[in-house]
Amino acid sequence: MPELPEVETIATGVNERIRGARIKSVWLSSYKEPFKTAPDPMSDALTGSRINLVHRVGKHIVFDLSQNKRPIQWIVHLGMTGRLLVSAAAVPIPPHTHAILTLSSGRELRFVDHRRFGRLALHTPNGSETSFRGPGQEPLAISAADFAALFRGRKLSIKAALLNQSLLHGVGNIYADESLFHAGIRPTRIAGRLTRSQLDKLRTALQQILRKAISLGGSSISDYVDADGVAGFFQLEHRVYMRTGQPCLVCGTPIRRTVLAGRGTHSCPRCQR
Ligand SMILES: [Zn+2]
Repeated sequence: MPELPEVETIATGVNERIRGARIKSVWLSSYKEPFKTAPDPMSDALTGSRINLVHRVGKHIVFDLSQNKRPIQWIVHLGMTGRLLVSAAAVPIPPHTHAILTLSSGRELRFVDHRRFGRLALHTPNGSETSFRGPGQEPLAISAADFAALFRGRKLSIKAALLNQSLLHGVGNIYADESLFHAGIRPTRIAGRLTRSQLDKLRTALQQILRKAISLGGSSISDYVDADGVAGFFQLEHRVYMRTGQPCLVCGTPIRRTVLAGRGTHSCPRCQR
């Protein structure tokens, strides 16, 4: 599943390729699952609109569009296996394609997803939410005070809290485990009992690791390709994630795997307290 750095990389790649283009026509598949907004209104809203910017919010890819100067947003969530491809029209359409946006340049933006956990939706500005903001707070932008406030009084483990998308959005399993290791915090610790200084360390670690992964172009180990359909990203060196039984890079103690919040959780029993 693409995590925040991969989603950021894809959003940036798509933005560089199609920003400023106009959507000439839209084709959507007849499968129900990908469409959180019904296909007809989605197609109507997209057709003829101009793509002003493509960016990331949480793990969503957000297309800022204007339709007769009226702002509208197209929201893409890649789910487990979703891909966005910018292709020449002559490139054969891959199986499991659920959306094709034909652009003024003649190129096509294609959404392909064989497992159909990805989601496509429209966001129209309304009174309370002019721009799509996603379910939780943005991990790269959140202040230290707001970060600490998120976990106050929470009785769940810090690992589960980090994965809770309504608190922080976009943090997945890899970056939760890695940031807890860097901050020296045991994943089972109750979120609401962590000290302010531990939470400050955790926020700093999380932001540093996410930024590093973004600068490397994401670190996904799943079947994932960038906006041109080119496979292969640098893999960030993980310190604990998927290193079960291997020596901790700091103290040599074997890395332990447990299951927490339903997810494989990797930690050093000695460095994390
Ligand atoms: Zn260790």
